Amino acid sequence: MSKIKLVIFDLDETLWRMEDGYCSILRPPLRETAPDTLADSIGRTIKLVGGVRELLASLSEAGIILSVASKNDAEPTTEVMHRFKIYDYFKYPQMEWNSKGKLVTRIIDLLLENDGISIKPEEALLVDDWESNVNDVRDLGVRTLHLSTDISRIEEVKGLVLEDDL
Ligand SMILES: [Mg+2]
Repeated sequence: MSKIKLVIFDLDETLWRMEDGYCSILRPPLRETAPDTLADSIGRTIKLVGGVRELLASLSEAGIILSVASKNDAEPTTEVMHRFKIYDYFKYPQMEWNSKGKLVTRIIDLLLENDGISIKPEEALLVDDWESNVNDVRDLGVRTLHLSTDISRIEEVKGLVLEDDL
């Protein structure tokens, strides 16, 4: 199997958790109510999953390209990524109401067009908590980790990618 060069993360219930709904229903202004926790103007909260920033740092330091494919509006999703200090880890993050297959394909195309980086489908990995998203992307030949059946904790991605144990 080829080594993983690109890891694409889902956001809602993968890198962060909400009590209810998805990121783009949040209504700014957002305020920090606890470490790595934001509340919107009507008190709905969103919390970064523990260990996520460390995971992104480790993968990035190992030379893995990181990106995002999320079914959300660009705002306030982009703001939430900035507020959680994770935005800068991602290359060409895609937040759009479109199939994950389309979003993943676009990231791979942008890396080739803009950076001359060629990623084969089997060198890319999607981490997502929704089985339908995983199945959609797997049809392209992209590798997948389904959060809950393949892994139970997001930190497990680090060992599996860096030790090439997928
Ligand atoms: Mg999700």
